[in-house]
Amino acid sequence: MPHQRRPLARPSATWLCAMALLSICSLPLPTSAGELLPKRLPVREYLHELRQQLTEKTAPQRRQWRNGDSLRLPIPAAPDNAGGLVPRQPVQPRANLAQHPTTASWPDASASIFERYWWQILLGGSLIILQGLLISALIFALRSRRVTLDALHDERNQLEARVLQRTQELMQANAKLEQLATTDPLTGIGNRRRMTEQINRELDRGRRFGHPLSLLMADIDHFKNVNDQYGHEAGDRVIIAVARALAEGVRNIDMASRFGGEEFVLLMPETSIEVATSAAERLRQEIAALEVKGDKGESIHFTISIGVAMAPPENTLDTPSTLVSRADKALYQAKEAGRNRVMCNG
Ligand code: GH3
Ligand code: MG
Ligand code: MG
Repeated sequence: MPHQRRPLARPSATWLCAMALLSICSLPLPTSAGELLPKRLPVREYLHELRQQLTEKTAPQRRQWRNGDSLRLPIPAAPDNAGGLVPRQPVQPRANLAQHPTTASWPDASASIFERYWWQILLGGSLIILQGLLISALIFALRSRRVTLDALHDERNQLEARVLQRTQELMQANAKLEQLATTDPLTGIGNRRRMTEQINRELDRGRRFGHPLSLLMADIDHFKNVNDQYGHEAGDRVIIAVARALAEGVRNIDMASRFGGEEFVLLMPETSIEVATSAAERLRQEIAALEVKGDKGESIHFTISIGVAMAPPENTLDTPSTLVSRADKALYQAKEAGRNRVMCNG
């Protein structure tokens, strides 16, 4: 299964807006319009101008101002004193000149926002730019990481697909090898190796479930004469015909194999020796009725001899070789008795 791609965390628009808002709020904004306009005048100039005005407005009480004098400033909007400064009228004390050094300066509302808060504005702007750079670097790093992860993900999927394909090819090759190693190439039925393994399995199964196991060994009679008289290729056709007749003449749970040159072994699980002998007789008759054409079209007839042996379920000593050996002895007896017949051992 290819791995699913994991979504990466992206900086959302909401997050970016929040960062920008936070940056703006961090600016040291002024709290009132008056404070926004600082302009500083030297106190000496301010006092000079103020003394001039007071002197003109209060001519009868003209006097010389000294630095230690208290300075009372008028309330400009009051109707009583709209004409100017009136001594002993209600006034708002604004400043005592003696408390201020002559080098002091008073704020004036005409100053610009940048002049008053220049270093805060520069610092805030720098912070915003720095934050922007950091966010850009973060986004770039995340995108690079995502591209790298995507590439790794694709590469891993391709590798897994290739491994899966190779594994399947290997399994198919192994199955093919196993098939080749246990199949007779001339007849297509199992060979001696496959039969030996099957006898082992069936011996175990027969002992466990209490069933007899019968084995037939068949050999073509005077087969050397067939080769000599009709040629080796005709002999091959005879072997193929016998193999097909044996394989098709038994039950599905039975198994036919080519054990040697013109020798065949049939295995019949859950079959007594009597039933196996009668099946062998039927097969012998079927094969005796076969006809194979020679290279020149001539008819070739042939017979087989069969030896039958059985492994009873209670016999725990039997092995594939002992069972085959008993069937071979019965086959030898059939040959001795004149061929084209069935003999059983036991
Ligand atoms: P018997 O009745 O006693 O079995 O006599 P026979 O001639 O069949 O036995 P023998 O063992 O003397 O001869 C078997 C012959 O089978 C010898 C060998 O050349 C031949 N043969 C073995 N394998 C093949 C094969 O694959 N194709 C062909 N055409 N002949 C084979
Ligand atoms: Mg023979
Ligand atoms: Mg032989």
